[in-house]
Amino acid sequence: MNPNAPVPDRAASRFGGAQNARFVFSVDLEDYFHVSAFESIAPRARWDQFTSRVDYSTNVLLDLLDDTHSRATFFVLGWVAERQPKLIQAVAARGHEIAAHSYWHQRVTTMTRADFTADAIRTRELLEQILGADVSGFRAPSFSITPSNAWAFEALVEAGYRYDSSVFPIRRRGYGFPGAPRDAYTIQTASGALDEFPLATLSLGPWPLPAAGGGYLRHFPFQVIAASVREVKDAGRVGVYYIHPWEVDVDQPRLATSTLTRWRHYGGLRHTAPRLRRLLESAPFTSFRALREERAA
Ligand SMILES: [Zn+2]
Repeated sequence: MNPNAPVPDRAASRFGGAQNARFVFSVDLEDYFHVSAFESIAPRARWDQFTSRVDYSTNVLLDLLDDTHSRATFFVLGWVAERQPKLIQAVAARGHEIAAHSYWHQRVTTMTRADFTADAIRTRELLEQILGADVSGFRAPSFSITPSNAWAFEALVEAGYRYDSSVFPIRRRGYGFPGAPRDAYTIQTASGALDEFPLATLSLGPWPLPAAGGGYLRHFPFQVIAASVREVKDAGRVGVYYIHPWEVDVDQPRLATSTLTRWRHYGGLRHTAPRLRRLLESAPFTSFRALREERAA
């Protein structure tokens, strides 16, 4: 771990350690053209020209969550919330938590601390205005809080957030926080405490394997995800899983991009919904808000 990174304070954590396992489901609520890999072919200045599919695909997820008696946290892109506030209100009205996924979907690895803080404040205030309620959680686009920009934890506290779920404790090109705790922990920053909820991983080989959903749910055999659920249960961890609405949208427009990006984005889309149902039926899933309220009690 980066020596400059905030040190997790396990003793002060209300989450990690020998407790009953808990499962949190999360949705990164954005449209198919917001994906970081499409930055060059779908630049921000042209986002308004794409046909939005996020209302349809979010509703597919909402029905799946209802069917499996699951609750979730939706990390919402500010750009979407500003244009479709009724969708955000509808998600909240169905019992899910609304949290922030930045305004512009810019990777934190490409931002200055000042720009990151301003974007995080803007998004929180926008969501709070739409909801008439506090927003306390954040997830960085593409899990882009890494050892090189660990200042982001303190910046989030300063921007009014209480928890974060951006750390992927894996070694991977582009993102990942190798060596970070695999269970929920609390980071003590100079500006205050931030609860961190890392994405679910599986012990296999020298480095934990990503097993939290998304592309890993579509491309890996389902047994990998199922094994990580068992590991979370056995270890008494907080298991954090996620999906994007576009991953259940088989009919989304196909953008012209490289073969690798096409495989990553469009591969296995038809598997998403049935595998997600299996995942949601394999454990009781709740939101970060519900978990934090429970542990605070
Ligand atoms: Zn995203």
